[in-house]
Order: sequence, then structure tokens, then C-alpha cells
Amino acid sequence: MCKIIAVANQKGGVGKTTTAVNLGIGLAGEGKKVLLIDGDPQGSLTISLGYREPDRLEVTLATLLSEVMEEKPLSVSEAIIHHDEGVDLIPANIELSALEINLVNAMSREVMLRSFVEAIKSEYDYIVIDCMPSLGMLTINALACADSVLIPVQAAYLPVKGLEQLLKTIGRVQRRLNKKLRIEGILLTMVDSRTNYARDISQLVVDSYSDQIRVFETLIPLSVRAAEISAEGSSIYQYDPKGKAATAYRTLTEEVIGHGC
Ligand code: ATP
Ligand code: MG
Repeated sequence: MCKIIAVANQKGGVGKTTTAVNLGIGLAGEGKKVLLIDGDPQGSLTISLGYREPDRLEVTLATLLSEVMEEKPLSVSEAIIHHDEGVDLIPANIELSALEINLVNAMSREVMLRSFVEAIKSEYDYIVIDCMPSLGMLTINALACADSVLIPVQAAYLPVKGLEQLLKTIGRVQRRLNKKLRIEGILLTMVDSRTNYARDISQLVVDSYSDQIRVFETLIPLSVRAAEISAEGSSIYQYDPKGKAATAYRTLTEEVIGHGC
């Protein structure tokens, strides 16, 4: 059975894309069949996987969503890129931005992504969707088709405070669009273990949320290596396999597999 995980947080720069890449490739490394979907018009996931000029790609997520909207046959196989680290990718580019605007007037606008994900999910063990930093229609679409949402949170005070709005949106999607949606967990990222402050923030998250939401035991460390991979076009496992970020993402992958479907 396929599990669909949306990586979401409307706060920008908290490690969503880095987590989507390294969780996705981590799962593939464990023998799982994985599809990564870039849900951000900035195309950061697409770029991070080495496709440096996403705006040149002809068939992307925007193409598929407009086909769903216009009830045309889907060009899924043309959209899927097979990456050499063992994952499939549906890329995104700036066209997704125009598509999001068109979605607003479409019928069943919240479930466009679900329509085609339903059609392909039998081919995968995991589908990981990298959301954009907003709670707009594209993120709602991702939440409406996901089984769970993984929430990366930068280990700093303000990002932790900003979680309430996201949790409210997740609750609304659960009630109105997708009863099966669960929270996979809160993942603390960019944790600077040299400071007490990082430890205090981790404790704040555990104290505030752990009675209702799983907080991953894995902490993603602040790591220059992790910051470099987006320019490198490869995962942390290839770029710095023995480093602390690779070890952390491996442990996260195990935790996610351990949660089951
Ligand atoms: P956006 O909201 O713009 O989509 P995001 O939440 O997807 O951002 P990333 O793009 O993954 O966040 O990361 C933001 C920046 O922080 C990037 O420059 C990335 O390389 C860097 N970064 C990610 N993870 C780490 C880490 N563990 N340590 C240090 N830097 C990191
Ligand atoms: Mg991103």
C-alpha cells in the first residue's frame, strides 16, 4: 500500500525541500519505490535534484493539473523523471503559479492533485510532496490527497509559535476534505546542538505539542553540508554520506518507516 506524505509548513526556509529530498531518497535507499512531487512554483525540489532550469521543462505538475482540470488524458509518463538516486520526480516550475490562480475558479479545486495521485499511487510505496511556503490552494491540494503531513520546524522561537495556523488548516482539511489525514510528526531542523537555546526550543515543542502530535526523536542538525546539497543536485547520502546530516536523515527515514502506513 502506498503512503502519501505532504511536507508542509507555511513558514519559508524551514527545511521542507531538504527534508523531502533526503527522506524520499532515504526511503528509496531502503528499497521502497518512491515518487517525489514538487508542489512549489519555485521548483526548489526540482532544482535540488539537479534540474537547474525547471522553467525549461515542458511537462510538469502544472501540465498534469491542467489536464485534470480540463478532463483531458493525463501525460503522467511524460511528466515523470527517473532520478539516478532511485526516485521518480514530478517536477514543477513557474507555470504552477498561473495554474494555482486558475484553480480558484475550478470545480472541485481542492482535489485536483488527488485525482491524478489516485491514478498512479498503486505503483509506489511512498509519495512525498514538497509543499510551497503558503497555505494556498496548492498546499490545500497536497493536504487533501495526503495520508499524513510531516512538519519541519526550524529550531527557533518564532517558527515554533507559527505552528498554530498550520495545525488549524490541517484540522479544517481533515474535517472537510480528507478524514484520513494524520500528522506524521513535527521534525526539528537546523538544530544547533552547541547551544542551550536549541535544546530549550526542542523542549518547548515537546512540551507544547507532544501530547497531541508526535515529535520525531530525530533532530536534523544545522549543517553546512546540508545547505550545500541544493546546489549540488544530489542527496546528502551522496554528497556527505558519513556526515551528521546524512546520519540524521537516515534515522528519520527509519522512524517514518517504523510509523507504518
Ligand atoms: P521554502 O519555504 O523556501 O520552500 P524550505 O522550507 O523548503 O524553504 P529548504 O529550502 O529546505 O527550506 O532550506 C532553506 C535553506 O536552509 C536552504 O538554503 C537550505 O540549503 C538550508 N538548509 C536546509 N537544511 C539545513 C540544515 N540542516 N542545516 C543548514 N542549512 C540547511
Ligand atoms: Mg522548499
